[in-house]
Formats: sequence, structure tokens, C-alpha cells
Amino acid sequence: MIDMHSHFFPPISQQEAQRFDPVRAPWLAVQKGEAEGHIMVGETRFRPVYRALWDPDFRVAELDAQGVEVQVVCATPVMFGYGWEAARAADWAARMNDRAIEFCAAHPHRLKALAQVPLQDLALACAEATRAVSAGCVGVQIGNHLGDKDLDDEQLVAFLVHCAEQAIPVLVHPWDMMGGARMKKWMLPWLVAMPAETQLGMLSLILSGALERIPESLKICFAHGGGAFAFLLGRVDNAWRHRDIVREDCPQLPSSYCRRFHVDSAVFDPAALRMLTDVMGVDRVMLGSDYPFPLGEQRIGELIRDAGFLAPGDRQRLVRGNAESFFGF
Ligand SMILES: [Zn+2]
Repeated sequence: MIDMHSHFFPPISQQEAQRFDPVRAPWLAVQKGEAEGHIMVGETRFRPVYRALWDPDFRVAELDAQGVEVQVVCATPVMFGYGWEAARAADWAARMNDRAIEFCAAHPHRLKALAQVPLQDLALACAEATRAVSAGCVGVQIGNHLGDKDLDDEQLVAFLVHCAEQAIPVLVHPWDMMGGARMKKWMLPWLVAMPAETQLGMLSLILSGALERIPESLKICFAHGGGAFAFLLGRVDNAWRHRDIVREDCPQLPSSYCRRFHVDSAVFDPAALRMLTDVMGVDRVMLGSDYPFPLGEQRIGELIRDAGFLAPGDRQRLVRGNAESFFGF
């Protein structure tokens, strides 16, 4: 199995974080030798975490037990630094990418890293993506938006064109979720806003016509099965057919652009996976667990392994073959 969506967080000390931003830079609060700790932002506990997040040996032992041969790791989105002045964010991204490469170097055949980039500055983002890939990263991860700018923003489209031209695969991860004032409890930002953020990212690329300008060679994958995208695609097609304001920038039926996207398999329900493979195609869904967080798949690959509605060869594509082609492994 190849698991193409998992996270790491390096042991950033509070002092190191404070040099970048005492209020907003994340760091890891863990006592030496302890198996559990917290990601901190300033003095606030952001999330309880355990050792697999920062210890590659411990992680690979867990992957052995789960039968995962290769895992692609990327930054925990709180590490993005998109709100900082660009030069500082570029410095931070390079540091985080070097830590990701170091993390994977402990088990180079088992762990592969995606880079983060200072997305707020096009030139610096392109330069860091290229540098990190030449240093050993297998692609980049970006957030689905940059403040009020969605993926159809001219600068973000230019970044995706750069990735296409340099054959750098892109994972788009939802972050900085909408609707915060009305979603204060029960992890609603993760349950309601995250799937909407992902759908918004995908629709912004389709309905803006940006996919007409981005080379078809771009390899771009959206996390969490594309969030709300697949289930609501019929609604979007219907709107495109019946309202000119929906199709004014988008020359083709929205669903015809599905072949430009990949998604991961983190949907936790057989009926949802079935719909996803029907809508996206069995060659465009890849095993992604969101390990090692509690909202990830606890038995990695179980949903696909148990998917009796898929032919054995298609299950094999989902757990391995599609990721091999996506990343060029
Ligand atoms: Zn994730």
C-alpha cells in the first residue's frame, strides 16, 4: 500500500517558533522521551498529538503493523505561515521542508515528503517548490485558499502552472476554515467547513475557466475525497445548464473537468467511496489516511480493502497503482 495523505510535525521548540512569530508560529510541547504532547500556537494548546507525528522510527513501526509500504508525509496545515510577511514565510518553509526531508531520510524507501511553500509570494513559492523537490521532496502541499483568494486567483493559478511545467505533483489541503463564528463546538469546522473549503477550491478552478489555462499535465489531488465536491456535482452541472452566470467563465460542463483532478480516499463510508470512484473514475482515487490524527482512517486502507463493489484490480489501483503514477514512483 501507498498512503499518500499523512502529516508530520517536527520537534520545533518554543524558542525557535518565537523567533518567527511569538503569537502565531506553531511549536511542539513534548517532554523528552514522552510519547504524547501538544502542538502549540503561542501559549495555546492547538491539538493533542502522539509520537508518530515527529518520530520516524516509531511511525515506520506502526506502518509495518498496518502493512503500509510507502507513506507520503506533509506539513500539518497550522505550519503553513501564509499570514506572515513573505520573506519570513519563505525562510520558515525552507526550514520546515528541510525538517521533512530529514524526517523521511531516516527511512528513505518508506517515507516521502511533500514540501510547503510561501504561497503569499509567487516568485518565492515557485523557487521553494523547485528547491525542495530538487532536495528530495516528491511534490508540494498547498492550502485551498490564501485569505480571500481562492485557487482561481491569478497568482495561485500561476503557481499551479509552474508546478505543471516542472512536473511537481500538488496536494491541496483544506485549512483556515470558513464560518468560524457559527462553528465553535463539536469539531464543526472539520466536519462542515473543511469539506466545503475543498469543494470551493475545486469549483473555483472549474467555474473560473482556470483549468483551460493550466496545462493538462498538472497532477493535482484534493484531500478528503474532494470534500463535498462529488456529492454536489450534479447540482453544479444543473446550475451550469440553466443559469448563464454559472457558465460565463466555464466553457465545458463542470463534471467534464473531473478527469483533471485526483482525490484521496478519506471518506470513511463504503457508499461514499463507491460514489467517488463512479464520479472521479477508479484511476483518480488514491489511498489517503490523514494519519496520525484521530480524524484519519484508523486501519489504513480498510475502506478500500473491504470495497467489494470494486474489482480486485481496481482496489489495487486505489491502494497503490494510482499513487505510483501520480508521483512517478
Ligand atoms: Zn490531512
